[in-house]
Amino acid sequence: MPSSAASAARTILTRLHDVMASRSHAQAKLNNVVEIIGEGLDSEVCSIYLLREGMLELFATRGLAQEAVHVTRMAVGEGLVGTIAQNIDMLNLAEATAHPDFSYRPETGEEKFHSFAGVPIVRRERAVGVLCVQHAEPRRYEEVEIEALQTVAMVLSELIANADLVDEEQALLGPAQTGPQHLTGLSLVKGLASGVAVFHQPRITIEHTMAEDRDAELQRVYLAFDKMREQIDRMASQAEFGVGGEHEEVLQTYKMFAYDEGWSRRIIEAIDSGLTAEAAIERVQQRTRMRMRQIDDPLLADRMHDLEDLSNRLLRIVSGQMGTAASMGLKQDAILIARNLGPAELLEYDKRRLKGVLLEEGSLTAHVVIVARAMGIPVLGRLRSLRGAVREGDQLLLDGDQGKVTVRPNQPMLEAFDARFAKSRERQAAYAKLRDVEPFTRCGTRITVMMNAGLRDDMPSLALTGADGVGLFRTEFQFLVSATLPARERQTRLYRDVLEAAGDKPVVFRTVDIGGDKVLPYLRHNDGEQEENPAMGWRALRVALERDGLLKVQARALLEAAAGRTLNVMFPMVTEPWEFDAARQVFENQRAYLKGQKKLLPDAIRYGAMLEVPALAEQLDVLAPKLSFLSIGTNDLTQFLFAADRANPKLAERYDWLSPAILRFLKRVMQGVAGHDVDVTVCGEMGGRRLEALALLGIGIHRLSITPASVGPIKELVRKVDLGEIGKAMTGWLHSPPPSLREALLAWAQERGIDCD
Ligand code: PEP
Ligand code: MG
Repeated sequence: MPSSAASAARTILTRLHDVMASRSHAQAKLNNVVEIIGEGLDSEVCSIYLLREGMLELFATRGLAQEAVHVTRMAVGEGLVGTIAQNIDMLNLAEATAHPDFSYRPETGEEKFHSFAGVPIVRRERAVGVLCVQHAEPRRYEEVEIEALQTVAMVLSELIANADLVDEEQALLGPAQTGPQHLTGLSLVKGLASGVAVFHQPRITIEHTMAEDRDAELQRVYLAFDKMREQIDRMASQAEFGVGGEHEEVLQTYKMFAYDEGWSRRIIEAIDSGLTAEAAIERVQQRTRMRMRQIDDPLLADRMHDLEDLSNRLLRIVSGQMGTAASMGLKQDAILIARNLGPAELLEYDKRRLKGVLLEEGSLTAHVVIVARAMGIPVLGRLRSLRGAVREGDQLLLDGDQGKVTVRPNQPMLEAFDARFAKSRERQAAYAKLRDVEPFTRCGTRITVMMNAGLRDDMPSLALTGADGVGLFRTEFQFLVSATLPARERQTRLYRDVLEAAGDKPVVFRTVDIGGDKVLPYLRHNDGEQEENPAMGWRALRVALERDGLLKVQARALLEAAAGRTLNVMFPMVTEPWEFDAARQVFENQRAYLKGQKKLLPDAIRYGAMLEVPALAEQLDVLAPKLSFLSIGTNDLTQFLFAADRANPKLAERYDWLSPAILRFLKRVMQGVAGHDVDVTVCGEMGGRRLEALALLGIGIHRLSITPASVGPIKELVRKVDLGEIGKAMTGWLHSPPPSLREALLAWAQERGIDCD
């Protein structure tokens, strides 16, 4: 029995190296390989199964009947071998027949053998085959033996691929996945797009697994460790705002792993067994993954996830395949593929080439989706098997209207898509014509249709759409795309540019709304507590009032930028009236200070509050007299009203904006401010959807601030609506709700020729 996994594997690898370098035929090589492994592990049986035409086929064996070679075939998921391939996990059994998945194959003559151990042969995270050993004597294999098998399997995967023994395309994707395929997901941003698949985190392909020079590999891995530790230390020292908090804890864990002796030792051992640095890192990562599956403790599993992250980082450093796809630049029209993305990550991409985004997760009101919507980029989310079904470079047709994506389309599919694309462009052109048309309803009421923005780059949309102004400028976007806290001068410059771009049209600046899903690595919580519910935690105005330095700087920047104009400013997440008073006071103090400095000031300041927290609705009588305007943030409001995290993809369909609950609530808010001189606007994503906008008009909301792409469609809708009619219908439905308010509204709209899809 081998004394250590490294030495057993090393002996086998040295012999394998010679066989594979020889000029013999692939089958002869495999026959040799099973002999070498069998002898090396002192095993009576050693067999290799490879995936061919979607089946696991016995390709070579020592110890089983030779007649079974290329005859015994198993589906993935069938028998012990199929189970290993399906789960991408090893099996180690003292009595193979006792396992529920055991399937007896008489042609192999395997009944003599009791014990069984097998490991998957993995390539690019997919099983392309199985390597197994069997013994007559019933016994469980030692850990060192399994380790040696796994190391050998890793090298085999490269050798098999190089010898063209498996049809890699088929093996990696399965037979059905080489032709066209349709995937359905949740439409997060509507629109059509075509382009090639680009993975946000490109997969790292390990080309060489067997080391030529052990010392050189060790040297490479030592250097990579140094570089990775430097990066982590730098990340930790970059925090320039406060100490403690969740972020620091995460970094501490990272640091602990980065310097973990056990981890580096295991990688060095794997190199000792004959692997290259890349293969050694991957090998240890595979083992961690396997352990993770056995751990039932979510906290520990989280930590293991951190280790996996670090391992990927190390792999990228050592292989020189650094950075996300953004840093490498997009070479052609692309559709980005990711599990999830942050808003800042999305903004790193070249807007001209980025045509669409596909996410395995994602939800309607997540900020990355809001940013994509503002950029006019269609997004589909909740595509569970996305990264398994699509390869880098595949042609994709994204249909954000129907929530569908076509992978590797054929010619008729391309033609049908082009025809739809042309139609959609026609519709866009019709909306563009509405740019200079004022949105009056059929009954003659002027509806205010403004747009939401967050970056300088959004401002040209104001002229392009003919929106009435910017009803919500999310100032935190500047903070999100910066590596450090933006200095006051930079803030002033941005606000001034935005006001200049807006000309005579008003811009409502919202003070920073940080927290929730808008995490800033350089701004951390004071008390070091990790937040269980960040969306309901230390965010928005709560941060701004506690770190009043932050709000003071922003107030100064806004007051200076709006000199000689009207400054419209609003505060996010106001929960109680005193918070509004306190925030207003910060601005007033800065105004007094600037006045003392004889600086030019805004001609007027209009203060507003966002209604996003339901509690505020109960105190509108107190707050309304102090307000110039109220802006209803339905994204947050609905998540709080329905207790459904807006960023949690599992809850994306847990509520409907057309439910009587939300609409009755909004109607009461309207009643709460009636009689006060307060403009009420809805600025959440809800207002940009035609059917939802129709409902809002029906409960008396006459001001919307929406994503620029929706301005045209909403203007067109407004012109078809009679407020008296829809008001009456809504009053009836809210008084005694029909089974589905959505269906009722849709039918109502269709009867009047109003297209609300
Ligand atoms: C909202 O909550 O509806 C809103 C407009 O603000 P944000 O989406 O930025 O949280
Ligand atoms: Mg909000």
